[in-house]
Amino acid sequence: MYEAFTLAAAQMANNGAYSDTSNAIGGYGLGGFYIDYYYILLVIPAMIIALIAQARVKSAYRKYAKIQNSRGLSGAQAARMILDSHGLTYVPINMVQGTLSDHFNPKDNTVNLSPEVFSGTSIASIGIAAHEVGHAIQHAEHYFPNKVRSAIIPITNFGSQISMILIILGLVLSQTLWLAYIGVALYSTVAIFQLVTLPVEFNASKRAMNQIKALGIANDTDAKGVRKVLTAAAMTYVAALITSLASFLRIFLIVSGRGRRR
Ligand SMILES: [Zn+2]
Repeated sequence: MYEAFTLAAAQMANNGAYSDTSNAIGGYGLGGFYIDYYYILLVIPAMIIALIAQARVKSAYRKYAKIQNSRGLSGAQAARMILDSHGLTYVPINMVQGTLSDHFNPKDNTVNLSPEVFSGTSIASIGIAAHEVGHAIQHAEHYFPNKVRSAIIPITNFGSQISMILIILGLVLSQTLWLAYIGVALYSTVAIFQLVTLPVEFNASKRAMNQIKALGIANDTDAKGVRKVLTAAAMTYVAALITSLASFLRIFLIVSGRGRRR
């Protein structure tokens, strides 16, 4: 994971707004009821995929949080070993509350691990700790997709906040469909952000796998478990991309459909 938290919150708030306003902007009359078919056909299946991905990462985590790693290293110890081997002795490792709340914070250059990962000596602990250190190494090495991602966060935050207002105004007022299309374009920044997040997350996990093997933090059996946990986590980012693409497509189809009816 990687500080996408303000954005995720904004998105959640927006998704709520979209379902509330779906009758105003889309939908087809059916005896007084309005059914937003695009929501049913696109957004709901995507949300189901996202829920499955979440359930899978939780079950992989639960499974491998119970199995101790062969060297009995804690997540914090593994993280320290990898950081130090990259000359990142100055990057602190903090404990933060919660479960699966682990993240790297580029603002203060800290690795933040949940209590179970920080102190735990399970296969899941070393895997997640190594993944977060992967982000710290990306940051130190100015990994390019990471820089792109950081650069578009403000654009995405702005886009996700203002897009719906423009779309509704564009559809409600006359002769202002162009405004709705600007809203659609701004809304696409959410999906673009999710797309750029993928290489960053996959690369952090790849670095984690390489490091735990290279430094002898995990044996082959441990490494297999680590891979399962990290792959399940990566799938949640794929699911997030699918969800934002589905939402984007729905909004686009509603606006372009309105254009054709005029
Ligand atoms: Zn991550």
